[in-house]
Amino acid sequence: MQGDVREHLAALEEAGARAVRVRHPEDLARVDGIVLPGGESTTIVKLLDAFELFEPLRTAIEGGLPVYGSCAGMILLARRLLDAAEGQRTLGELDVTVRRNAFGRQIDSFETDLEVEGVTGGPFHAVFIRAPWVEEAGPGVQVLATVGAGPAAGRIVAVRERDVVATSFHPEIAGDVRLHRKFVQIVSERD
Ligand code: GLN
Repeated sequence: MQGDVREHLAALEEAGARAVRVRHPEDLARVDGIVLPGGESTTIVKLLDAFELFEPLRTAIEGGLPVYGSCAGMILLARRLLDAAEGQRTLGELDVTVRRNAFGRQIDSFETDLEVEGVTGGPFHAVFIRAPWVEEAGPGVQVLATVGAGPAAGRIVAVRERDVVATSFHPEIAGDVRLHRKFVQIVSERD
C-alpha cells in the first residue's frame, strides 16, 4: 500500500523468493507469504480500507498466511497499541503491545547493530525511523532482538509468533537481506 514496497520486492527476490505486489483481495490467493512494509500506519489502514483489503488480509493471516511486518507493519500486526491515533485499528494478529513512535524525539531516527536470533553471520545493521517498539510480548511470542545499548537498551525490536514476524526497524534499506531470507525460509518450510 505504502512505504518501501520496491525495496522489499528487491530484497525478497535477492532472498530467493518470487515477489509480487499485493493490491487487491484476489492477489492474496496467489502468495505464500506477505510483507507489510513500513510507512505511516494510519495511512496504511486507510489505504487497506480503500482497496477493500483490510478484512481479507486479516482473515488470511488468521488462517495462517505467513507475514512479516516492518515498522508500521509491526504496528499493523499488533493486538494492542500505545500512543495510537484516535480510533486506530490494527489487524491484531500478533500478541504484543506496541508503542508507536516509541524512541522519542532525541533518537527519532537512528541506526544500531543488533544481534537477531536465528540470523547468523554477525550483527544486523538496523535502521529505525520514527520506530515503534514492543512494550510487552505475550507468552507465545519469541523475542528475536533487543536494543543493546543507549537510552533504549533492552527494548524489544524484533519478535516472532508462529509465522508472524515483526521488526521495529527497516531491513530493506540496509542492503542486508538476511531477515528477508529468514522470512522466505519460514514460508518455504511450511507444507
Ligand atoms: N511512526 C510510524 C507509524 O506510526 C511508523 C514509522 C515507519 O514505518 N517508519 O506508522
